[in-house]
Amino acid sequence: TYVIGAPCIDVLDRACVEECPVDCIYEGERSLYINPTECIDCGACEPVCPVEAIFYEDDLPSAFGPFLADNALFFDEP
Ligand code: SF4
Repeated sequence: TYVIGAPCIDVLDRACVEECPVDCIYEGERSLYINPTECIDCGACEPVCPVEAIFYEDDLPSAFGPFLADNALFFDEP
């Protein structure tokens, strides 16, 4: 899955939302989140992000590691 990291916080540009062919990018309070079970790994969202917040999970900078868990938590909520 692709993951949205720290640069998105309080930016929420939404360019990625327009680009995603399966509409799996959701809006949280301070950041956008990619639903890991719906993402088809197409990569379309990554280049359009103006703040370069989107990474393939394996390429996620270590400083953004917590965002993987944070992302999972967002979608675990009832
Ligand atoms: Fe959507 Fe593709 Fe980005 Fe996954 S990689 S969030 S499917 S645009």
